[in-house]
Amino acid sequence: AQRAGTPHAQARIDLSAVRANVSRLCEAAGSAEVMAVVKADGYGHGMAAVARAALAGGATWLGVAGMREALALRAAGVPGRLLAWLLTPGDDWNAAVASGVELSAGATWAVRAAVRAAQAVDRPALLHLEAETGLGRGGATADDWRALLETAARAEAAGYVRVVGVWSHLARADEPGHPSCDEQLAAFRSAAGLARRAGLTPDVLHLSNSAATLTLPEAHFDLVRPGLAVYGLSPVPDVAGPSELGLRPAMTLTARLASVKRVPAGQGVSYGHRYRTARETTLGLVPLGYADGVPRHASQAGPVLVAGRRHTVAGTVCMDQFVLDLGDAPAAPGDEVVLFGPGDRGEPGAADWARAAQSISHEIVARIGARVPRTYT
Ligand code: PLP
Repeated sequence: AQRAGTPHAQARIDLSAVRANVSRLCEAAGSAEVMAVVKADGYGHGMAAVARAALAGGATWLGVAGMREALALRAAGVPGRLLAWLLTPGDDWNAAVASGVELSAGATWAVRAAVRAAQAVDRPALLHLEAETGLGRGGATADDWRALLETAARAEAAGYVRVVGVWSHLARADEPGHPSCDEQLAAFRSAAGLARRAGLTPDVLHLSNSAATLTLPEAHFDLVRPGLAVYGLSPVPDVAGPSELGLRPAMTLTARLASVKRVPAGQGVSYGHRYRTARETTLGLVPLGYADGVPRHASQAGPVLVAGRRHTVAGTVCMDQFVLDLGDAPAAPGDEVVLFGPGDRGEPGAADWARAAQSISHEIVARIGARVPRTYT
């Protein structure tokens, strides 16, 4: 039975798993350093808590997308080198440079923004130049790379910036052996060579996400940037699960049944009646919905564990709740429903939800909403 005061749903975060996953990634990275990617609230796990655990596990860098995330980590007093890579002109460049946040620049405007901030706060900006090597997303294309290098070299000579890194991001590292990885590697080496020829001396070249950290050593260079694997999830789910990769999923998402009732055969269930009971049965109501990050695309498909047995979401996932057809199994309000976890009790993993929703594990955990309390062990 559920005790008074127990939340109706919660995400339990195992920080010792985060530490162990990061140690495993350090081992895989060999001589390269590890940047734990903790953007998007630590992929839904809680940014500051995960960042500290990752540093305890051996990461020496932290990576985030936006400047606000970087400043929040600094405000929380989290140490470690810290890179933010998704910036716009209106961001608080002065605050970032003043607090030693390292910044990506994939275009000349970003170098100029960094120079202005360095002048304003009287401290050089630490820049990582981003090369477009084939992802077709951020970074300077081969055509724009020389202009970016020249602008950065001038700013460095004037003492306003220090180019500490050159980086890029892989498009298809989750498909081990895909030829686009080799093409991106070659483009990246060439971009780094041009940077040196422009007189720049970056200390860290970095290209690898989790998949490349675990499966593509030639892409490790000086620093790797794993995100998903920090949280114990497989970046190559069609090839290997977490345990085969030496990882342990850190998040367990559970809820408590809010209602249980017998209904007759032929009962339409949830919006649109996409599910109909085949015979008299017990319906259980789970108080988690798409506002909490349970994907509506997993209607009729998302797997859960109740009292040691697997069930599938019956009908459409609603904003705050979804329904299970529990058959004739005994069930009561307050009984635990496990949506996903490390699998020790036979519960599904985040990858199973990703499959059910035609998504990826990154999206499943990152979207678990603010309404779900996180507890840490
Ligand atoms: N580096 C960059 C630039 C990213 O955007 C991300 C995440 O999307 C990562 C590294 C980490 O990727 P993954 O979570 O697949 O390891």
